[in-house]
Amino acid sequence: MNNIDKNIIVISGPSGCGKDTVVKKILQIDQRFVLSVSATTRERRPIEKDGIDYIFLSSQDFIQKVNDGEFLEYTLYCNNYYGTLKQQIEDKVKAGKVVVLVIEVEGAQNVKKVYPNCLTIFLAPPSLEELERRLRNRNTEDDSKIKQRMFKASEELGFKSSYDYIVENNEVEECAKSIINIFDSEK
Ligand code: 5GP
Repeated sequence: MNNIDKNIIVISGPSGCGKDTVVKKILQIDQRFVLSVSATTRERRPIEKDGIDYIFLSSQDFIQKVNDGEFLEYTLYCNNYYGTLKQQIEDKVKAGKVVVLVIEVEGAQNVKKVYPNCLTIFLAPPSLEELERRLRNRNTEDDSKIKQRMFKASEELGFKSSYDYIVENNEVEECAKSIINIFDSEK
């Protein structure tokens, strides 16, 4: 179990803070890291690929996997289910990789219960105003969904002190490198 812990990084942060971009940069500059591809019932965005960005499931299939005990953790976020499949972690760690989980705060707490020595990082936006600007520029959610995500963001920011590290995302590459440095210094 302990070996698995040391090869897991959990990254959380409010929607729009740039988690996905930062994580893509980490994977691009350091081949030790791979992404845990989450399952979700959310609708696929046009730029997303099934099996790469997410494993897109119907609610029925998601619930079946919950009942079959396939999830390490799962949650309901803004009316959609999201979850980490145990297999994503086990297979990738066995293959010698460090697995990066990009998940919200409740999921992070649940992963920490199972793998207490995993590394948890909260990615903070420079400000809530900047976060809203990024969410609107992204153009993937309508106004009511943006409001819902902004509400969720202020809730999530309240959990940041429960993470091992808080990293501010001002510039993507610099932020990705800080996370890699934290991982190496913790090892
Ligand atoms: P989005 O819809 O923007 O892709 O994701 C919404 C939120 O769900 C984000 O905070 C994202 O990190 C989180 N999320 C993605 N996958 C998982 C997962 O497997 N488990 C949990 N708990 N949250 C997830």
